[in-house]
Amino acid sequence: MEDRSPRDELFSFETDKGDDARTPAPIDGDNDVTEQAPDDWLFDPLTALPSRTLFMERLEQCLADRRTPGPITAVFYVDIDHFKDINENLGYEAGDELLLAVAGRLQETLRPADTVARLTADEFGLVLDDLSDIAQAMTVARRITNSLEEPLSVAQLDVFVTASIGIALESDRRENAEVLLRNALEAKDRAKEKGDGGCEVFHAGLASEALERLHLEHEIRRALDEDELSLRYQPVVKISNREVIGAEALVRWEHPTRGTLAPIEFFPLAEATGLIVPLGKFVLDHVCRQAHAWQLDGATSSGMRINLNLSPKQLLEGDITSDVAEVLSRSGLESDSLVLELGESSVLDHLEPASKLAVGLDRLGVQLAIDDFGKDLTALDFVLRYPVRALKLNRSLVDAVETQENSRAVIRHICSLAHERGIRVTAVGVETESQLARLDDLGCDAAQGFLFYRPMSGEDVALVLAAAAIATG
Ligand code: C2E
Ligand code: MG
Repeated sequence: MEDRSPRDELFSFETDKGDDARTPAPIDGDNDVTEQAPDDWLFDPLTALPSRTLFMERLEQCLADRRTPGPITAVFYVDIDHFKDINENLGYEAGDELLLAVAGRLQETLRPADTVARLTADEFGLVLDDLSDIAQAMTVARRITNSLEEPLSVAQLDVFVTASIGIALESDRRENAEVLLRNALEAKDRAKEKGDGGCEVFHAGLASEALERLHLEHEIRRALDEDELSLRYQPVVKISNREVIGAEALVRWEHPTRGTLAPIEFFPLAEATGLIVPLGKFVLDHVCRQAHAWQLDGATSSGMRINLNLSPKQLLEGDITSDVAEVLSRSGLESDSLVLELGESSVLDHLEPASKLAVGLDRLGVQLAIDDFGKDLTALDFVLRYPVRALKLNRSLVDAVETQENSRAVIRHICSLAHERGIRVTAVGVETESQLARLDDLGCDAAQGFLFYRPMSGEDVALVLAAAAIATG
């Protein structure tokens, strides 16, 4: 007998509303709702869709045909939320119309080779064969959810419906058709418990990290949609007089259940999935608006600059220069108030786009800083050839400034070359007065670290700036 996996192997997420444009597949002959049902027990008389019996036959066939490892079969259990209310309030004819309309939407969303069947009154079963991975199944789930967001015409009314979706994927255990359908049903029940329009995946064979990754990816999409991201700003001070001369924007995720998350907890996946690109746009937009608001408040001294970080994916996939130009004109922020930080490794890994960015930003009057600088001094060549305005020292150099002569020599060398070119050097991660004194001796211009300020909200930065303005009279 097949092992029944425990409920905790269920993995839950909410389908997001991202648009995954795909041309609807033409309607399959078998699934065509306009075609006459040829046989009562193989086809549902109302929708002409395959019945449960034919659904099971097809599913068994897919599983039996699997010869090569790799592609997988997925079973979807789709349950229309609150179908009973439609029947009760609008009548059974309207209920039938709704079922026909949903059947049509499901068919439009799938490929011709997929099976859509009517399993019970308001439940549909789908068989999707030859999927490459779980992500493909999730994309289909998203398409179904999106397609149901458009109103359905029922009893001459626009009716909005959602569906709860349970998904079961074939795993190494080589489940039979009965088990897959049961798993999909169980996942659907769990989706239903969570509320309308939810989706759950049951997949006992997947490694839990893969599920977690997928879960996190969906959560990041939601975070972007639902405004769960926020920004902290860490002031940067001039070492000679400790005046605040800028601030670096650092993103945080205000997760509804896990609390505030630092970038390290979600950036690697955001980077791998490309979600970092919309996330970067969010940061750019917010940072420019915040900096402009500080300026309008009169809270910033002239020359105060705001820094934000760029990821390598943004460099490769986005058009940063035109995004920046557009956001500057929208926000009203002066271009020379903005500094974009690009990591040293991003520069070295992508020299050509990095050099284009340096030139493009320079034309706009926006400064480029190289972040985490000093681990690989071949990056100095880039600094000397392209318009780079600031270097931010790698934290490991700052950490070792008191203990390692090598680190001191590197910092001294960087500062002297930078100053010859009018480039400022900022030390990041300064935690003690003695580190600061060393960095000052070596020629660093500015510092950022817990010794002065931790990352804080935009309102708190305004208070810091206002207090500084009062102190200097
Ligand atoms: P980073 O650009 O090097 O930012 C400085 C990091 O060092 C921040 O960590 C800051 O909180 C931390 N830090 C500053 N001073 C000290 C100190 O004295 N001691 C210690 N222990 N840490 C200090 P955070 O906020 O966790 O950010 C980590 C990295 O995530 C950033 O490193 C940056 O590379 C990336 N990041 C943050 N926000 C964004 C963003 O909006 N876009 C992109 N692409 N990357 C971002
Ligand atoms: Mg930085």
